[in-house]
Amino acid sequence: MTCSWTYEHYRFCIAKAQDQGYILLPFKEVASYPESQPLIILRHDIDRSLTRALAMARIERELGVRATYFVRVHAPTYNVFEYNAYRALKEIQSLGHEIGLHFEAVDFGHINGEAPLEVFRREKAVLETALDITVVSAAAHGEHSRSGPGHNRDFFQCFTKEQVGIKYDAYDTAFTKEMKYISDSYGIWQEGCMCNHIGKYPRLQILVHPCWWFKDHPFE
Ligand SMILES: [Zn+2]
Ligand SMILES: [Zn+2]
Repeated sequence: MTCSWTYEHYRFCIAKAQDQGYILLPFKEVASYPESQPLIILRHDIDRSLTRALAMARIERELGVRATYFVRVHAPTYNVFEYNAYRALKEIQSLGHEIGLHFEAVDFGHINGEAPLEVFRREKAVLETALDITVVSAAAHGEHSRSGPGHNRDFFQCFTKEQVGIKYDAYDTAFTKEMKYISDSYGIWQEGCMCNHIGKYPRLQILVHPCWWFKDHPFE
């Protein structure tokens, strides 16, 4: 099958992984399996579109896999308290997926002259309150801000997970160095499409941004 950004190809990738014996799961469940179990952590950063995220969540439900969806609280394009966004996030959760925090505490703190630690705690509290959930997984947002004064990804080099009540940091070496990590950031598979990596490594973290994927056309 030719690689593309269609849901058809996404389904192909997931099916390929299932055929090869991988369990596809959210961050919060990794510790439930022995080291010998091949697995893929499915990670989705919701940068812009909850509509696309919900479409992907429904497809994954059909295929019997679950993922972690990382949600922003400062996104200019969606708001967790808005009616339709709230409903979409609740549906994603009801489909069995994990909701994590796509945090921006370093960026937001720098712009507003506030301490990143406090910003992080408020971001997490907002998401937990909005959806009435407990958040245990976090992933830094914003590869675009590499040129800025700091990076959200540096947060856990300065603070511990315990300080903010988080169990899983998506950029922890356990998930980026001790297992194969690939990403479709910028709409490009830097190391080739995910389907080429499945079967080559016993454990992977695959970051798929729902905003790049579509049914028939990217403008749909
Ligand atoms: Zn492919
Ligand atoms: Zn992001």
